[in-house]
Amino acid sequence: MAQWACVSAANLSCQATIVNTQKQRNSPGCDAFSFKGSEFMAQSCRFSSPQAVYRRPRNGVCPLKVVCVDYPRPDLDSTANFLEAAYFSSTFRASPRPTKPLKVVIAGAGLAGLATAKYLADAGHQPILLEARDVLGGKVAAWKDSDGDWYETGLHIFFGAYPNIQNLFGELGINDRLQWKEHSMIFAMPNKPGEFSRFDFPEVLPAPINGIWAILKNNEMLTWPEKIKFAIGLLPAILGGQAYVEAQDGLSVKDWMRKQGIPDRVTTEVFIAMSKALNFINPDELSMQCILIALNRFLQEKHGSKMAFLDGSPPERLCAPIVDHIQSLGGEVRTNSRIQKIDLNNDGTVKSFVLNNGSVIEADAYVFATPVDILKLLLPENWKEMPYFKKLEKLVGVPVINVHIW
Ligand SMILES: Cc1cc2nc3c(=O)[nH]c(=O)nc-3n(C[C@H](O)[C@H](O)[C@H](O)COP(=O)(O)OP(=O)(O)OC[C@H]3O[C@@H](n4cnc5c(N)ncnc54)[C@H](O)[C@@H]3O)c2cc1C
Repeated sequence: MAQWACVSAANLSCQATIVNTQKQRNSPGCDAFSFKGSEFMAQSCRFSSPQAVYRRPRNGVCPLKVVCVDYPRPDLDSTANFLEAAYFSSTFRASPRPTKPLKVVIAGAGLAGLATAKYLADAGHQPILLEARDVLGGKVAAWKDSDGDWYETGLHIFFGAYPNIQNLFGELGINDRLQWKEHSMIFAMPNKPGEFSRFDFPEVLPAPINGIWAILKNNEMLTWPEKIKFAIGLLPAILGGQAYVEAQDGLSVKDWMRKQGIPDRVTTEVFIAMSKALNFINPDELSMQCILIALNRFLQEKHGSKMAFLDGSPPERLCAPIVDHIQSLGGEVRTNSRIQKIDLNNDGTVKSFVLNNGSVIEADAYVFATPVDILKLLLPENWKEMPYFKKLEKLVGVPVINVHIW
């Protein structure tokens, strides 16, 4: 009997509303965007050394400075979350080779589909990864324009608190492709255009004190009473752990803030940006569980909220090594292969995937790793009433338009 699974890559995102910059201590009020000066950046970025600085005068007050700086990879590998992720993935490689490897067809070559195929190949199975488009990566896909510049679907941040993806980079031997930034979260201030507010996490302090310190030291966005209420409001999340986090799913971000006595101004100043960065929706629409999952990791791991960027286009710098790995173990990755229909056996199990070019692919097991809206469209009629699939009705995709400003 064919088996069925549905996977999705974690969505702990952080977009342009939070920018990572390095402040020039000797020039108050001026920010400098920092990049690691790797060989790749030196080619693609005209300001490749700390000496190369671009200044843009603004109202005669404050020049914008752009400086490239190296930050070392933080020590993530000894955290409990990282060790757990590394252990789980090592079990795929260490498990006895299957006597009859399973042929597994996976729909969608975003990071979830690519990772599924990689770990199935590690476990000795034969994945066939089918991607509808002519580019790999899904939401991390990118395209070259006529000038040779890359357009990404969206800016992607790789946080220290992402144990699975950090472990995957290590397994692929590409840790050096992540460019680590200064440990700060910097918010554009909604009521003061062009000004930024910093949350600086001191290197010398352990978690969660470094996070609490970052909140208490912020003077631009929050007043002292707001900071204290905010820090106290976060205590149950710090102390209560995962069980507390999951129990908050019924509350929106806005309602949770009010319940904790955190003033609405904190929600407006900080959590509109954070809600939109994490899920592209507002604090009155987003479950507090989503914010707390991220915040809890950020507060409990010293380097959890440290950010890294990939040193080039994700299809080339991240997807390609995963594909090489899959293929080296006998798996296949095919682009331009859109699944158009899920064909069923009489007993309701999957018989095959039918592709847009008419070809039919049969396998021992099938995985769907596409966006939820696609799965809902392709769901066979007689599955729709099954309790498992009925839950999909409540999952709705959020449309996002990304504007690249050069
Ligand atoms: C603008 C933006 C910024 C983001 N920033 C961050 C960030 O900073 N940090 C972070 O961690 N996350 C971020 N995310 C979220 C992250 O990109 C996603 O969670 C992750 O990439 C989703 O991967 P996935 O494999 O689950 O799905 P997808 O990437 O959506 O992959 C699904 C794949 O399925 C393919 N497909 C669709 N239909 C079919 C079909 N019928 N047959 C075959 N294939 C099909 C699609 O073409 C696609 O390639 C961001 C997302 C966006 C949109």
